[in-house]
Amino acid sequence: MSRILTQQQIDRAQALIHGARKIVITTHKNPDGDAIGSAMAMHHFLKTLDKEVTTVVPDHAPDFLHWVKDYHQILAFDQQPDQIRTAISEADLLFSLDYNHLPRVGNDLCPVLEACDKPFILIDHHQQPGEFPEVIYSDTKACSTCEMVYRFIEQCGWKGHINIDVAACIYLGIMTDSGSFRFHNVSDDTHRIAGEMIALGLDHAEIHRQVYDVNLMDKLKLIGYALSEKLVVMPDQATAFISLTKEELQRYNYRQGDTEGLVNQALSIKGIKLAAFFREGSNEIKTSFRSKGSFDVNAFARANWQGGGHINAAGGMSAEDMPSTLEKFQSLVHQHAHDILAS
Ligand code: 5GP
Ligand code: MN
Repeated sequence: MSRILTQQQIDRAQALIHGARKIVITTHKNPDGDAIGSAMAMHHFLKTLDKEVTTVVPDHAPDFLHWVKDYHQILAFDQQPDQIRTAISEADLLFSLDYNHLPRVGNDLCPVLEACDKPFILIDHHQQPGEFPEVIYSDTKACSTCEMVYRFIEQCGWKGHINIDVAACIYLGIMTDSGSFRFHNVSDDTHRIAGEMIALGLDHAEIHRQVYDVNLMDKLKLIGYALSEKLVVMPDQATAFISLTKEELQRYNYRQGDTEGLVNQALSIKGIKLAAFFREGSNEIKTSFRSKGSFDVNAFARANWQGGGHINAAGGMSAEDMPSTLEKFQSLVHQHAHDILAS
């Protein structure tokens, strides 16, 4: 894990990129701002080197990310699997961005990537990257994969290729993954990179507007309902959680992305150190965890929820129904109460 690439990594990455004509960029399932930002920043950058680039996602991102330049060129495996299989089979080089191991691309795309014998370059800030890529640029202290994509391009000597399209994508991922520059992992280098994007002429206020000021009334009402009716506080364990069933989501015409950030509202309560959010999907319950301080939700999600992430932000899933899932969570909170309160 390192802020900077070794000379050996730079030499290998440059050689792989120089030697490749067709490049496939991949990112994780349920792509967020950092996933789309890093993938499309790399996409626009590689275009400046005249590469034939195909960007692939397991499924599409929420609407508030569709303004990204050339978003419509992204192929989603749940819609265009054959085109993606062909692109992967013809690729000379692949990128894995914003995910640490192949199962993060979902059960359908994962075997296709596993079967691919072409080299991968991984750029990611999650813990414990897998061994599959030829170049692994992992920095678990980075606030976003987007800031690492910037450093990757810079250290490979291609900074002059960062145009306004690349800049918008890099800014997008930094902004969304850092909670608009507020989390601990924001560094002086994060601000330097954001500053350089603005110096290129980027309209950063417009990016904030396009991501955060596009709410529909149904979404705001769903959040209002969740906060007023579904927020449970466990004051003695410094824990708060929210759950939403399929029926509740349907009542407010739930659209993908509508509950993003809701778990942070629970964490924002004074004195709360652990927050969780449970959203019922078609086959499973998606879980999200956030913490303040030393309580490691990555370890908590790995050990109990088939997931992972970062120390203060992680996710996973539950195959049980909502009442059993919430019971399991509350029982785990009681078991970990000492660590949560001490964090
Ligand atoms: P969120 O709660 O916003 O879905 O995710 C928070 C963090 O946890 C993100 O960094 C995300 O990559 C990670 N994460 C979310 N869900 C999963 C999961 O199912 N498996 C793993 N390994 N990481 C996850
Ligand atoms: Mn990220």
